[in-house]
Amino acid sequence: MKYRRTISAVCLVAVLQAVLSGCSRKQSAEQMWLTMGTYATVTVPPREMHRIEECLNVATSLTARVENSLSLFMPDSDLSRLNASDGRTVAVNEDTRAILAMSIKYGELTDGCFDSTVTPLVRLWGFNKGNVPPVPPSAEAIHEALQKVGFRQIILSGNKAAFRAPGMEVDSGGIAKGYAVDLCHDELARRGVKNVMINVAGNLRVRGTSKGGRPWRIGVRDPFDRERLLGTLELPHGMAVSTSGNYERFVVIEGRRYAHIIDPRTGIPVEGMAGVTALCTTATEADAMSTALFVLGPAQAPSVLSRLPDCHALLVPDTQPLRILVTPGFRRYFTPVPDHADRLEDLP
Ligand code: AMP
Ligand code: MG
Repeated sequence: MKYRRTISAVCLVAVLQAVLSGCSRKQSAEQMWLTMGTYATVTVPPREMHRIEECLNVATSLTARVENSLSLFMPDSDLSRLNASDGRTVAVNEDTRAILAMSIKYGELTDGCFDSTVTPLVRLWGFNKGNVPPVPPSAEAIHEALQKVGFRQIILSGNKAAFRAPGMEVDSGGIAKGYAVDLCHDELARRGVKNVMINVAGNLRVRGTSKGGRPWRIGVRDPFDRERLLGTLELPHGMAVSTSGNYERFVVIEGRRYAHIIDPRTGIPVEGMAGVTALCTTATEADAMSTALFVLGPAQAPSVLSRLPDCHALLVPDTQPLRILVTPGFRRYFTPVPDHADRLEDLP
Protein backbone atom coordinates (compact mmCIF):
# COMPACT_ATOMS: atom_id res chain seq x y z
CA MET A 1 0.00 0.00 0.00
CA LYS A 2 1.36 3.39 -0.83
CA TYR A 3 0.44 6.26 1.38
CA ARG A 4 0.01 9.91 0.67
CA ARG A 5 -0.10 13.00 2.79
CA THR A 6 -3.37 14.75 2.21
CA ILE A 7 -3.73 16.76 5.37
CA SER A 8 -5.25 19.70 3.48
CA ALA A 9 -8.03 17.34 2.44
CA VAL A 10 -8.76 16.77 6.13
CA CYS A 11 -9.63 20.38 6.64
CA LEU A 12 -11.81 20.44 3.55
CA VAL A 13 -13.73 17.33 4.60
CA ALA A 14 -14.13 18.68 8.13
CA VAL A 15 -15.42 21.99 6.79
CA LEU A 16 -17.81 20.25 4.38
CA GLN A 17 -19.17 18.05 7.11
CA ALA A 18 -19.66 21.01 9.41
CA VAL A 19 -21.47 22.89 6.65
CA LEU A 20 -23.62 19.91 5.75
CA SER A 21 -24.55 19.13 9.34
CA GLY A 22 -26.01 22.60 9.83
CA CYS A 23 -25.54 24.91 12.73
CA SER A 24 -27.59 23.52 15.56
CA ARG A 25 -26.28 24.12 19.09
CA LYS A 26 -25.63 20.45 19.77
CA GLN A 27 -22.75 19.63 17.47
CA SER A 28 -21.67 16.16 16.39
CA ALA A 29 -18.37 15.02 17.88
CA GLU A 30 -15.55 14.28 15.48
CA GLN A 31 -12.05 12.95 16.12
CA MET A 32 -9.25 12.82 13.60
CA TRP A 33 -6.05 10.78 13.46
CA LEU A 34 -3.33 10.02 10.95
CA THR A 35 -3.02 6.53 9.54
CA MET A 36 -1.83 4.90 6.32
CA GLY A 37 -0.10 8.17 5.44
CA THR A 38 -3.35 10.06 5.35
CA TYR A 39 -6.12 11.31 7.63
CA ALA A 40 -9.05 9.49 9.15
CA THR A 41 -12.04 10.67 11.13
CA VAL A 42 -14.73 9.14 13.27
CA THR A 43 -17.94 11.15 13.83
CA VAL A 44 -20.90 10.55 16.12
CA PRO A 45 -24.09 12.61 16.50
CA PRO A 46 -24.80 14.43 19.80
CA ARG A 47 -26.85 11.54 21.22
CA GLU A 48 -23.90 9.15 20.84
CA MET A 49 -21.33 11.70 22.04
CA HIS A 50 -20.44 9.70 25.16
CA ARG A 51 -18.95 6.96 22.94
CA ILE A 52 -16.60 9.11 20.86
CA GLU A 53 -13.45 8.18 22.82
CA GLU A 54 -14.28 4.49 22.57
CA CYS A 55 -14.90 4.86 18.82
CA LEU A 56 -11.58 6.64 18.40
CA ASN A 57 -9.67 3.99 20.38
CA VAL A 58 -11.21 1.14 18.39
CA ALA A 59 -10.62 2.86 15.05
CA THR A 60 -7.03 3.97 15.73
CA SER A 61 -5.99 0.51 16.87
CA LEU A 62 -7.67 -1.32 13.97
CA THR A 63 -6.32 1.06 11.31
CA ALA A 64 -2.84 0.76 12.86
CA ARG A 65 -3.17 -3.04 12.67
CA VAL A 66 -4.06 -2.82 8.95
CA GLU A 67 -1.19 -0.41 8.29
CA ASN A 68 1.30 -2.68 10.07
CA SER A 69 0.07 -5.66 8.04
CA LEU A 70 -0.11 -4.08 4.58
CA SER A 71 2.28 -1.13 4.33
CA LEU A 72 4.80 -1.45 1.51
CA PHE A 73 6.89 1.20 3.28
CA MET A 74 7.45 -1.14 6.24
CA PRO A 75 9.91 -3.82 5.05
CA ASP A 76 8.74 -6.21 7.78
CA SER A 77 5.00 -5.77 7.19
CA ASP A 78 3.19 -9.00 6.40
CA LEU A 79 2.55 -7.91 2.80
CA SER A 80 6.18 -6.80 2.28
CA ARG A 81 7.29 -10.25 3.46
CA LEU A 82 4.96 -11.91 0.95
CA ASN A 83 6.16 -9.60 -1.83
CA ALA A 84 9.76 -10.59 -1.05
CA SER A 85 8.94 -14.30 -0.96
CA ASP A 86 10.23 -14.96 -4.49
CA GLY A 87 7.73 -17.71 -5.32
CA ARG A 88 7.99 -19.47 -1.93
CA THR A 89 4.81 -20.24 0.00
CA VAL A 90 4.55 -18.14 3.14
CA ALA A 91 2.11 -17.92 6.04
CA VAL A 92 0.12 -14.67 5.99
CA ASN A 93 -1.89 -12.99 8.73
CA GLU A 94 -5.64 -12.43 8.79
CA ASP A 95 -5.52 -8.99 7.14
CA THR A 96 -3.22 -10.02 4.30
CA ARG A 97 -5.29 -13.16 3.71
CA ALA A 98 -8.49 -11.08 3.56
CA ILE A 99 -6.93 -8.53 1.19
CA LEU A 100 -5.69 -11.29 -1.13
CA ALA A 101 -9.10 -13.00 -1.09
CA MET A 102 -10.85 -9.68 -1.86
CA SER A 103 -8.33 -8.87 -4.58
CA ILE A 104 -9.12 -12.18 -6.28
CA LYS A 105 -12.89 -11.68 -5.83
CA TYR A 106 -12.92 -8.15 -7.32
CA GLY A 107 -10.42 -9.15 -10.00
CA GLU A 108 -12.93 -11.79 -11.18
CA LEU A 109 -15.96 -9.49 -10.83
CA THR A 110 -14.37 -6.67 -12.83
CA ASP A 111 -12.85 -8.76 -15.61
CA GLY A 112 -9.41 -7.94 -14.23
CA CYS A 113 -9.84 -4.15 -14.22
CA PHE A 114 -9.27 -4.24 -10.47
CA ASP A 115 -5.94 -6.00 -10.04
CA SER A 116 -3.83 -5.59 -6.90
CA THR A 117 -0.85 -7.14 -8.66
CA VAL A 118 -0.37 -4.03 -10.87
CA THR A 119 2.58 -3.08 -8.62
CA PRO A 120 5.36 -3.48 -11.25
CA LEU A 121 3.40 -1.16 -13.58
CA VAL A 122 2.63 1.33 -10.80
CA ARG A 123 6.38 1.54 -10.17
CA LEU A 124 7.32 1.65 -13.88
CA TRP A 125 5.20 4.77 -14.30
CA GLY A 126 6.91 6.45 -11.32
CA PHE A 127 4.37 5.93 -8.55
CA ASN A 128 4.90 4.30 -5.22
CA LYS A 129 8.62 3.62 -4.80
CA GLY A 130 9.34 4.15 -8.51
CA ASN A 131 11.20 7.13 -10.02
CA VAL A 132 9.26 9.22 -12.51
CA PRO A 133 10.80 8.30 -15.90
CA PRO A 134 11.95 11.15 -18.19
CA VAL A 135 9.99 9.61 -21.08
CA PRO A 136 6.99 7.24 -21.04
CA PRO A 137 8.02 3.58 -20.58
CA SER A 138 8.64 1.72 -23.85
CA ALA A 139 6.23 -0.92 -25.17
CA GLU A 140 8.89 -3.55 -24.30
CA ALA A 141 9.19 -2.34 -20.70
CA ILE A 142 5.39 -2.36 -20.32
CA HIS A 143 5.20 -5.84 -21.86
CA GLU A 144 7.87 -7.09 -19.46
CA ALA A 145 6.09 -5.61 -16.42
CA LEU A 146 2.78 -7.12 -17.57
CA GLN A 147 4.34 -10.60 -17.26
CA LYS A 148 4.37 -10.04 -13.49
CA VAL A 149 0.75 -8.85 -13.33
CA GLY A 150 -2.31 -11.05 -12.89
CA PHE A 151 -4.49 -11.69 -9.85
CA ARG A 152 -5.06 -15.26 -11.09
CA GLN A 153 -1.38 -15.92 -10.35
CA ILE A 154 -2.01 -15.49 -6.62
CA ILE A 155 -2.26 -18.84 -4.84
CA LEU A 156 -4.21 -18.58 -1.59
CA SER A 157 -4.98 -21.58 0.55
CA GLY A 158 -6.01 -21.02 4.17
CA ASN A 159 -3.37 -18.78 5.69
CA LYS A 160 -0.74 -19.74 3.09
CA ALA A 161 -0.02 -17.62 0.03
CA ALA A 162 2.38 -17.70 -2.91
CA PHE A 163 2.80 -16.14 -6.34
CA ARG A 164 2.94 -18.28 -9.48
CA ALA A 165 4.91 -15.79 -11.61
CA PRO A 166 8.37 -14.59 -10.60
CA GLY A 167 8.67 -10.94 -9.54
CA MET A 168 4.99 -10.53 -8.61
CA GLU A 169 4.00 -8.08 -5.87
CA VAL A 170 0.70 -7.00 -4.39
CA ASP A 171 -0.16 -3.32 -3.76
CA SER A 172 -3.28 -3.07 -1.62
CA GLY A 173 -3.58 0.73 -2.15
CA GLY A 174 -6.80 0.35 -4.16
CA ILE A 175 -8.70 -1.56 -1.45
CA ALA A 176 -7.00 -1.46 1.98
CA LYS A 177 -8.54 1.76 3.27
CA GLY A 178 -12.01 0.44 2.54
CA TYR A 179 -11.10 -2.82 4.25
CA ALA A 180 -9.89 -0.89 7.33
CA VAL A 181 -13.16 1.11 7.42
CA ASP A 182 -15.18 -2.13 7.38
CA LEU A 183 -13.12 -3.57 10.25
CA CYS A 184 -13.85 -0.44 12.32
CA HIS A 185 -17.53 -0.48 11.30
CA ASP A 186 -18.00 -4.14 12.25
CA GLU A 187 -16.25 -3.79 15.61
CA LEU A 188 -18.26 -0.66 16.52
CA ALA A 189 -21.45 -2.48 15.50
CA ARG A 190 -20.45 -5.42 17.72
CA ARG A 191 -20.02 -2.98 20.61
CA GLY A 192 -23.50 -1.57 20.05
CA VAL A 193 -22.52 1.85 18.64
CA LYS A 194 -25.64 2.70 16.66
CA ASN A 195 -24.81 5.99 14.93
CA VAL A 196 -21.33 6.64 13.60
CA MET A 197 -19.42 7.56 10.45
CA ILE A 198 -15.89 6.26 9.85
CA ASN A 199 -13.85 7.95 7.13
CA VAL A 200 -10.34 7.03 5.97
CA ALA A 201 -9.33 9.54 3.29
CA GLY A 202 -12.72 9.60 1.61
CA ASN A 203 -13.42 5.88 2.00
CA LEU A 204 -16.30 5.97 4.45
CA ARG A 205 -19.13 3.98 5.94
CA VAL A 206 -22.02 4.98 8.18
CA ARG A 207 -24.24 3.41 10.79
CA GLY A 208 -27.62 4.76 11.77
CA THR A 209 -28.28 8.44 11.33
CA SER A 210 -26.67 11.80 11.92
CA LYS A 211 -27.86 14.72 14.07
CA GLY A 212 -31.57 14.85 14.78
CA GLY A 213 -32.08 11.42 13.18
CA ARG A 214 -31.34 12.84 9.73
CA PRO A 215 -29.42 10.67 7.26
CA TRP A 216 -25.66 11.10 7.10
CA ARG A 217 -24.83 13.47 4.24
CA ILE A 218 -21.51 13.86 2.50
CA GLY A 219 -20.27 16.09 -0.29
CA VAL A 220 -19.09 14.62 -3.61
CA ARG A 221 -16.20 16.75 -4.80
CA ASP A 222 -15.96 18.27 -8.25
CA PRO A 223 -12.92 16.50 -9.79
CA PHE A 224 -12.17 19.66 -11.81
CA ASP A 225 -12.25 21.95 -8.78
CA ARG A 226 -11.56 20.35 -5.42
CA GLU A 227 -12.92 23.38 -3.55
CA ARG A 228 -16.36 22.76 -5.02
CA LEU A 229 -18.98 20.03 -4.84
CA LEU A 230 -20.84 18.21 -7.58
CA GLY A 231 -23.59 17.51 -5.08
CA THR A 232 -24.42 15.76 -1.84
CA LEU A 233 -25.15 12.14 -1.09
CA GLU A 234 -27.45 10.91 1.65
CA LEU A 235 -26.18 7.66 3.05
CA PRO A 236 -28.61 5.02 4.28
CA HIS A 237 -27.66 2.92 7.32
CA GLY A 238 -24.70 0.62 6.68
CA MET A 239 -23.78 2.05 3.27
CA ALA A 240 -20.26 2.94 2.18
CA VAL A 241 -18.77 5.38 -0.32
CA SER A 242 -15.41 5.66 -2.03
CA THR A 243 -14.05 8.09 -4.60
CA SER A 244 -11.18 7.64 -7.06
CA GLY A 245 -9.93 10.67 -8.95
CA ASN A 246 -7.29 11.55 -11.50
CA TYR A 247 -6.50 14.67 -9.41
CA GLU A 248 -5.47 12.62 -6.35
CA ARG A 249 -2.06 11.45 -7.53
CA PHE A 250 -0.43 11.84 -10.88
CA VAL A 251 2.99 12.13 -12.54
CA VAL A 252 4.00 14.49 -15.31
CA ILE A 253 6.12 12.96 -18.08
CA GLU A 254 7.14 15.15 -21.03
CA GLY A 255 4.54 17.70 -19.97
CA ARG A 256 1.70 15.17 -19.97
CA ARG A 257 -0.22 14.15 -16.84
CA TYR A 258 -0.67 10.46 -16.02
CA ALA A 259 -3.07 9.35 -13.27
CA HIS A 260 -2.16 6.79 -10.61
CA ILE A 261 -4.71 4.18 -11.71
CA ILE A 262 -3.37 1.77 -14.30
CA ASP A 263 -5.38 -0.25 -16.79
CA PRO A 264 -4.06 -3.78 -16.14
CA ARG A 265 -5.13 -4.81 -19.65
CA THR A 266 -2.79 -2.36 -21.36
CA GLY A 267 -0.25 -1.45 -18.67
CA ILE A 268 -0.96 2.25 -19.26
CA PRO A 269 -2.45 4.79 -16.80
CA VAL A 270 -6.15 5.39 -17.41
CA GLU A 271 -7.02 8.39 -19.56
CA GLY A 272 -10.42 9.90 -20.13
CA MET A 273 -11.79 9.67 -16.58
CA ALA A 274 -11.78 12.49 -14.02
CA GLY A 275 -13.54 10.87 -11.06
CA VAL A 276 -15.67 7.97 -9.89
CA THR A 277 -17.72 7.63 -6.72
CA ALA A 278 -19.03 4.19 -5.76
CA LEU A 279 -21.85 3.65 -3.25
CA CYS A 280 -21.90 0.06 -1.99
CA THR A 281 -22.90 -2.06 0.99
CA THR A 282 -19.32 -2.42 2.24
CA ALA A 283 -16.39 -0.01 2.20
CA THR A 284 -14.13 -2.74 0.80
CA GLU A 285 -16.42 -3.10 -2.21
CA ALA A 286 -16.79 0.68 -2.64
CA ASP A 287 -12.98 1.09 -2.57
CA ALA A 288 -12.32 -1.74 -5.06
CA MET A 289 -15.20 -0.68 -7.32
CA SER A 290 -14.30 3.02 -7.48
CA THR A 291 -10.85 2.00 -8.70
CA ALA A 292 -12.25 -0.62 -11.12
CA LEU A 293 -14.95 1.69 -12.55
CA PHE A 294 -12.28 4.32 -13.15
CA VAL A 295 -10.54 1.76 -15.39
CA LEU A 296 -13.77 0.52 -17.00
CA GLY A 297 -15.14 3.96 -17.89
CA PRO A 298 -18.75 4.71 -18.95
CA ALA A 299 -18.83 2.25 -21.87
CA GLN A 300 -17.84 -0.86 -19.89
CA ALA A 301 -19.02 0.05 -16.38
CA PRO A 302 -22.72 -0.91 -16.86
CA SER A 303 -22.08 -4.58 -17.68
CA VAL A 304 -19.84 -5.01 -14.62
CA LEU A 305 -22.27 -3.08 -12.39
CA SER A 306 -25.08 -5.40 -13.50
CA ARG A 307 -23.28 -8.18 -11.57
CA LEU A 308 -23.43 -6.12 -8.37
CA PRO A 309 -27.03 -4.95 -7.88
CA ASP A 310 -26.21 -3.23 -4.57
CA CYS A 311 -23.36 -1.17 -6.01
CA HIS A 312 -24.25 2.26 -7.43
CA ALA A 313 -21.95 4.73 -9.10
CA LEU A 314 -21.29 8.23 -10.38
CA LEU A 315 -18.76 8.68 -13.21
CA VAL A 316 -17.29 11.95 -14.45
CA PRO A 317 -15.44 11.69 -17.78
CA ASP A 318 -12.37 13.91 -18.20
CA THR A 319 -14.04 16.05 -20.86
CA GLN A 320 -15.67 19.44 -21.06
CA PRO A 321 -18.43 20.42 -20.73
CA LEU A 322 -18.94 18.59 -17.43
CA ARG A 323 -20.96 15.34 -17.57
CA ILE A 324 -22.12 13.57 -14.41
CA LEU A 325 -23.18 10.02 -15.25
CA VAL A 326 -25.17 8.23 -12.54
CA THR A 327 -26.81 4.84 -12.18
CA PRO A 328 -30.50 4.89 -11.14
CA GLY A 329 -29.54 3.62 -7.67
CA PHE A 330 -27.04 6.46 -7.20
CA ARG A 331 -29.51 9.08 -8.40
CA ARG A 332 -31.89 8.06 -5.60
CA TYR A 333 -29.47 9.30 -2.93
CA PHE A 334 -27.74 12.14 -4.82
CA THR A 335 -28.68 15.83 -5.02
CA PRO A 336 -26.57 17.83 -7.47
CA VAL A 337 -25.66 21.43 -6.60
CA PRO A 338 -28.04 23.77 -8.50
CA ASP A 339 -25.26 24.82 -10.95
CA HIS A 340 -24.83 21.21 -12.09
CA ALA A 341 -28.43 19.97 -12.00
CA ASP A 342 -28.62 19.97 -15.81
CA ARG A 343 -25.33 18.07 -16.11
CA LEU A 344 -26.78 14.83 -14.68
CA GLU A 345 -27.22 11.95 -17.14
CA ASP A 346 -28.22 8.30 -16.74
CA LEU A 347 -25.44 5.78 -16.98
CA PRO A 348 -27.27 3.14 -19.00
P1 AMP B 1 -7.81 4.28 -5.31
O1 AMP B 1 -7.31 5.61 -4.89
O2 AMP B 1 -8.55 3.52 -4.26
O3 AMP B 1 -8.54 4.28 -6.61
O4 AMP B 1 -6.51 3.34 -5.53
C1 AMP B 1 -5.49 3.69 -6.41
C2 AMP B 1 -4.25 2.93 -6.03
O5 AMP B 1 -4.44 1.53 -6.27
C3 AMP B 1 -3.06 3.32 -6.88
O6 AMP B 1 -2.32 4.38 -6.28
C4 AMP B 1 -2.26 2.03 -6.97
O7 AMP B 1 -1.48 1.86 -5.81
C5 AMP B 1 -3.34 0.98 -6.99
N1 AMP B 1 -3.84 0.68 -8.34
C6 AMP B 1 -3.57 1.34 -9.50
N2 AMP B 1 -4.25 0.79 -10.53
C7 AMP B 1 -4.97 -0.26 -10.00
C8 AMP B 1 -5.87 -1.23 -10.55
N3 AMP B 1 -6.18 -1.24 -11.84
N4 AMP B 1 -6.38 -2.16 -9.71
C9 AMP B 1 -6.08 -2.15 -8.39
N5 AMP B 1 -5.25 -1.27 -7.81
C10 AMP B 1 -4.70 -0.33 -8.60
MG1 MG C 1 -10.08 2.12 -4.41
